[in-house]
Amino acid sequence: MIFCDTHTHLDLHDFSTDLPDVIRRAEENEVKLLFLPNLDTESLPRIHAICEQYPGICFPMAGLHPGSVTENFETELSLIKAALPLHDFCAIGETGTDLYHDNTFFKQQQQAFLTQLLWAEEFNLPIVIHTRNSFRETMDILLGTNCRRGVFHCFSGNVDEAREVLDLGFYLGIGGVVTFKNAKTLHDVVKFAPLDRLLLETDAPFLAPAPHRGKRNEPAYIPLIANAISLLKGTSPLDTANITTANAIRLFLKDASCP
Ligand SMILES: [Zn+2]
Ligand SMILES: [Zn+2]
Repeated sequence: MIFCDTHTHLDLHDFSTDLPDVIRRAEENEVKLLFLPNLDTESLPRIHAICEQYPGICFPMAGLHPGSVTENFETELSLIKAALPLHDFCAIGETGTDLYHDNTFFKQQQQAFLTQLLWAEEFNLPIVIHTRNSFRETMDILLGTNCRRGVFHCFSGNVDEAREVLDLGFYLGIGGVVTFKNAKTLHDVVKFAPLDRLLLETDAPFLAPAPHRGKRNEPAYIPLIANAISLLKGTSPLDTANITTANAIRLFLKDASCP
């Protein structure tokens, strides 16, 4: 039985002092494949260094996060795009739109997202979509492209929105929020969605699952998320692990050999 953490920000400062321990604890908990989303041009070399240090365990993505989009976004995008052919990236991301934190650069976020959807098509890579308080706006841009392979990470929509995402062929990324007792909407989404369309993610260091809520999140907590999903869906822990891991490999490592 192996698990994947399909969205983990191991390059962030939170892990700068104990990353080897974090990765060891992940492996002790059978979390053996870690997918690292990129935020901007500063995080890209850090992600690279980590993935080179842990080959076959850590896999890099390249993209510009909506929270990193400012008036300079075109320069950032051109630098990130220049790196795409040089390395073995498993996805474009994370990208998308976000109206939760700040809407100052929302127009630029929309443009940056569209550009990255076109990269996904050009480089034949899946896309990792971040959307917060902006589901409709994100969908409208996506529907204007032919990109149909990827994940809505940390999915926070309702069942109708989940149906729309699944009908397009996308996966739903499910994180620590599913372990919270009051997360009724997400519980309904998990019951509704087929297991072969769910991906497990921590979004570490953010959104730690119960009983670690409010503390630093890390990939070793993936089994807590898997357990909550198993209970909601009535599946065995082994099926949850095997099926969600197969999903992640199918999406991100289709050309790579299975570990
Ligand atoms: Zn995100
Ligand atoms: Zn993220």
